[in-house]
Amino acid sequence: MNIILKNLTTEELCNQIKPLGGSLYLARKIQTAALCHNDMLKHGPGISGRVLVRVRESCVLPQLKMLDRIESSKDRFVRYVFEGESKGAIEAVRIPLLHRHDDYKYVVCVSSQIGCPMGCAFCFTGKMGFVRNLSPWEIVDQVVQIAGDSQYPVKGVVFMGMGEPMLNYDAVMKAAGILCEPCGMAISSKAITISTSGIVPGIKRFIEDKKKYRLIVSLTSANPAIRLKLMPVEKKWSTDLLMESLREYHKNTNERIILSWTLISGVNTGIIDAKELAMITKGLPVKIDLIDVNDPEGKFNPPSNEELNFFRDALRRELAMPVSRRYSGGADIKAGCGMLASHFQN
Ligand code: SF4
Repeated sequence: MNIILKNLTTEELCNQIKPLGGSLYLARKIQTAALCHNDMLKHGPGISGRVLVRVRESCVLPQLKMLDRIESSKDRFVRYVFEGESKGAIEAVRIPLLHRHDDYKYVVCVSSQIGCPMGCAFCFTGKMGFVRNLSPWEIVDQVVQIAGDSQYPVKGVVFMGMGEPMLNYDAVMKAAGILCEPCGMAISSKAITISTSGIVPGIKRFIEDKKKYRLIVSLTSANPAIRLKLMPVEKKWSTDLLMESLREYHKNTNERIILSWTLISGVNTGIIDAKELAMITKGLPVKIDLIDVNDPEGKFNPPSNEELNFFRDALRRELAMPVSRRYSGGADIKAGCGMLASHFQN
């Protein structure tokens, strides 16, 4: 029997090692060794050596191979390139949160797929096309290895790397659950963010499953014709269907809806864009996250400061809801939003 560590919650691991004489206590110790130290448990107080040998013989501790690690000299973002079960690069980014002296920490942006089938026009990962889904351990190990390479703790995980998380729903939710295990990485469920380009069935499942993670939806335009040009997801799951599912999400969770908006100069930063957004979100508590587009090809450009301020003011006026600008760092090392895998295009 092969028990794949980093692929199981503590409860699942416990159920698998019980027939071998294992217990919940042992499962917790094995999880701590695997997730916090990237190692097999060697011994421990109150653990029978004979049972541990039997359990260890059945366990495998899979590891991603780190192919590259590139650190930005500008903002200390780090881009990691890994290889997993089969060929294909898996990219992840370590985001430093070093502004509070007494609370230095990192957030890790993980990939859920290699490539992405969604084809968003402003994203290089989309241009790669879809290669394959990642398994739970391949997602978990991005965080485990980055935490092992870090001076300060990893306190948050965002599923905003390569891939559309809702199209690899089971593996993503399993990985998120493992990352929350108190005897492992102990990441708070509220510090795990699942991002989607608007896969409506995924959002509905997320509601039904009562997942406690933060949800961010990439909207980028409230005008279906513009959105369709930028995000082909609009063809299958229209803005109307998406907003209907988000109203349902709010009704069930009472959570504010976080909408991310990739800012593209001259495309989605006008007064009409703000008015259209106000119209479709009427009565719904939302927060708008503005992110500069990162297009290494130069087809799409971020707005100037003047254009950004104009749009931000227009949003605040029209929506009367919080609007913030999210810093998309690591552009110099191709770690910015939408840039992962862009180095393959050179
Ligand atoms: S923005 Fe996200 S969903 Fe769209 S192509 Fe890129 S990785 Fe896929």
